[in-house]
Amino acid sequence: MAAGPWPTSLDVGQVICLGLVALQHRGQESAGIVTSEGTSETHLNVKKGMGMINTIFNDENMKKLKGNLGIGHTRYSTSAASEEVNCQPFVVHTVHGVLAVAHNGELVNCDKLRKQVLSRGVGLSTHSDSELITQALCLNPPDGEEDNGPDWPARIKHLMQLAPLSYSLVIMMKDRIFGVRDAYGNRPLCLGKIVALNGSTSPEEGWVISSESCGFLSIGARYVREVQPGEIIEITNTGFRTVDIVERPENRSLAFCIFEYVYFARSDTIFEGQMVYSVRMECGKMLAREAFVEADIISSVPESGTAAAHGFSREAKIPFAEVLCKNRGNTIGPIVKLLKDAGAKAVHVRIASPPLRYPCFMGINIPTSEELIANKLDNMKLATHTGADSLAYLSVDGLKKAVRLNIKNTKEIGHCTACLTGEYPEPLEWILSAYAATRPQLLSPSSILLTTASGVGIWGVNPSSASSWLLSAAHLVPLKKATITS
Ligand code: SF4
Repeated sequence: MAAGPWPTSLDVGQVICLGLVALQHRGQESAGIVTSEGTSETHLNVKKGMGMINTIFNDENMKKLKGNLGIGHTRYSTSAASEEVNCQPFVVHTVHGVLAVAHNGELVNCDKLRKQVLSRGVGLSTHSDSELITQALCLNPPDGEEDNGPDWPARIKHLMQLAPLSYSLVIMMKDRIFGVRDAYGNRPLCLGKIVALNGSTSPEEGWVISSESCGFLSIGARYVREVQPGEIIEITNTGFRTVDIVERPENRSLAFCIFEYVYFARSDTIFEGQMVYSVRMECGKMLAREAFVEADIISSVPESGTAAAHGFSREAKIPFAEVLCKNRGNTIGPIVKLLKDAGAKAVHVRIASPPLRYPCFMGINIPTSEELIANKLDNMKLATHTGADSLAYLSVDGLKKAVRLNIKNTKEIGHCTACLTGEYPEPLEWILSAYAATRPQLLSPSSILLTTASGVGIWGVNPSSASSWLLSAAHLVPLKKATITS
């Protein structure tokens, strides 16, 4: 965020911290905040650490995060290890002053970019894409620059041409922040304005850029709009402006991550002019049309499947009831058993997402194709495997229809469905070579986990009994080594 007149009356560090709390679902491994007081070319205030927001920031270290502008990040690791050295934002000192960068996403061609950066004599201390981006921005552009200093927008544009996806970035210098979204619009980014609390008609007090809008209300900000695919935005103490919009290579389609709607984003976030909750509800309605089953009640595994369960309930005209309390775990096999042990005569599982069949190379941790349970078992076998009486997924077409139903600007829509269909936004060969070179193989799972993402449950049907039961669901994601349960 960057606040209005400087020095600002806003506690910028505190506001960013509150914003990160609202984004905690996007990463729980580490977090960081960097602020600038707007005057020093050589100094930024930095606090980073491993763990959740509430364990990293306290009254004492927050006092040091003074400033008129700042950026923050909360991380879960994809390509680089979960270690302190990879905590973001990254801060580097350049001949043109200090620079801080925070990154959401994963560079699919990071090998190529890494070679380019290393060949210019720059050493890299981590395997993090974010350090790579930071160092790439620090390089003098091939065509040189004017005498009066670095042309940051031109450098950012050059980086975007070298690395077309996938990222949303915030880049902070002494007195300005650039917000950048990849040209495919794969990763989300939106703009908000901080308004005066006293209801006065005075101008906005500051501007904020965020991966999701869900935290805006808690920091006194109002949603303004999405950062457009390929757009570079600059925010300063005088406001915001669009600096440039970078085109997609070969005019390829937009590829906003459809999985943000299914699982990743908080349900009160707005993407493409619609609230995620309403899309999840539509997914439930669509699933009721595609895979209806008679049942006494509909329920969900709390809480990511709840919106879809409500949608299913409305469409199927079967009452919704809460059956499970949070904290009972979300592995479907034990849940089905629990329900049957409690007397349910039948448990039907409905999953408000198509099955995950392919890995993601763009910032979401999804195991390899070989490990995905949906590639091994059909619905009937999966139902048997989990002890359910039936199991069905939402179709890819059904998901796309649910997502696109209420998008007003239909002029240009495009969603990445690669983990569901294997159709990647960039040519597969290139992505596979990047994958082989950069990503360690995951271990084969010895058990499966059914996440509660957009799961919708249907409760048991027993023609000879009034007793009904519950429940739930989600897509099947095999566990990695660290999380395998017996
Ligand atoms: S592959 Fe799946 S998770 Fe990855 S960006 Fe595409 S839709 Fe999102």
